[in-house]
Amino acid sequence: MISNKAKIAKFILKNKEISKPEIATQLDLSMPTVLQIVKNLIDEGLVVQSGKQASKGGRKATALSIAEDFIFSIGIDITANHVSYVAIDLNRHVVGKLRMKKRFEHVLSYYEDLQYHLDHFLQEIDLPREKILGIGVSLPGIIDRSKQMLIRSHVLKQNHVSLKFLESLFDYPIFFENDANSALFAEMSYIKKNTIYVSLSNSVGGSICIDQSIYMGDGFKSAEFGHMIIIPDGEVCYCGKKGCADAYCSAQVLLKYADSLEQFFERLNQGDARIQEAWQRYLDHLSILVSNLRMTFDCDIMLGGYVGGYMKQYMAEFYQKVMRYNLFDEDTTYLKNCHYEKEASAIGVALHFVENYFNKL
Ligand SMILES: [Zn+2]
Repeated sequence: MISNKAKIAKFILKNKEISKPEIATQLDLSMPTVLQIVKNLIDEGLVVQSGKQASKGGRKATALSIAEDFIFSIGIDITANHVSYVAIDLNRHVVGKLRMKKRFEHVLSYYEDLQYHLDHFLQEIDLPREKILGIGVSLPGIIDRSKQMLIRSHVLKQNHVSLKFLESLFDYPIFFENDANSALFAEMSYIKKNTIYVSLSNSVGGSICIDQSIYMGDGFKSAEFGHMIIIPDGEVCYCGKKGCADAYCSAQVLLKYADSLEQFFERLNQGDARIQEAWQRYLDHLSILVSNLRMTFDCDIMLGGYVGGYMKQYMAEFYQKVMRYNLFDEDTTYLKNCHYEKEASAIGVALHFVENYFNKL
């Protein structure tokens, strides 16, 4: 059960600008209760009076909103070759971000470097330590959150690695989560229905959102869509198997043809024949994966990750390809584009501390 204080703060957050009478009516709370709690929230600095709301005649009510500079959360997304940092405020706005090339190594000097760049990042955006709730870390692998353990990551080439030591190294509370689950978590404010998130980054992963919560699986291994075989005896996947979706649908497949995805799509739009052919092949394979997922889950499917961020303008041709494999649906309105691109995982994992903060008020 969450407190009335938490309910009111979350309601203000959700509505951006709202008046005290509206809070009382819509949350079915008495006006004196609302007045007292709002006064406390303002005294604590979490809520600010942000101006007057327009009203139909009569006195204008004061609009309340969540303070922008009150407290923050940090997200760090670790991939095989990059690290991204984001800082978000309680309104979920990104107030700073940094992405850099850094090859992952499970050695102390790597983590010390992460800490060094974190301190530097916080200085750059002028965030004092005491205003930070905690640090979320997202990783491409199977995570046991309660044990702060990376159970397995083919991408990072790690097995059963405890990451507990990061908490004392960084000297902040730390929360670990799988990268695709984190990305889906960032998208959750846009998701109204059951949704399968397909992450098309340098590896292919996914996440399953059912009844507004993420289905983890019995051993945290759910949604490893990248290692579903789509072509028997096909291309060798980095996991060692042949024909996995990852070998056909990861961003790296496209990066064989260009130095960056930006360059790939630029050349695609310029009509480069070799690139067009590679893109059609990519969409063919992706449509197999996506239609299999639709037949398994019968719910919305969101295309996310690095490639997902570029998919919007190619959806018409992708729809046609998916329809070839799926005889159960009349249309493809269940296919959705993601809202976040590169920073999705870092934002999503940072949101953990924001959610927790509101829930515990
Ligand atoms: Zn594989």
